[in-house]
Amino acid sequence: MAPRLDLQLLRTWEERLEVEPCKTFGVHRSQVTCDYKVQYRLVGYCHENNTFYYDRMVNEATIVHELLHKKHPGWSESEVRAETKRLMAMIGDITGSE
Ligand SMILES: [Zn+2]
Repeated sequence: MAPRLDLQLLRTWEERLEVEPCKTFGVHRSQVTCDYKVQYRLVGYCHENNTFYYDRMVNEATIVHELLHKKHPGWSESEVRAETKRLMAMIGDITGSE
């Protein structure tokens, strides 16, 4: 099954967070290899080419999380998580964060 990302939602959050629109790239799971016998995932923002990569259904909290990485490259993972939680609580839709 092809991964899905709600582009409309992505654009909405890009506007809210005042960041430039990013490119998106849906990666099929079969294109990802992993050396470890753990569950791997490929969801993330790449600063170098301004691209949002995803290999699964992406929820709203994940979109916000990755866009915060884009907006604040210097922030730590926990800073990004805290801000994601705050923003999600603000819009009254706590769907958990990545
Ligand atoms: Zn992160």
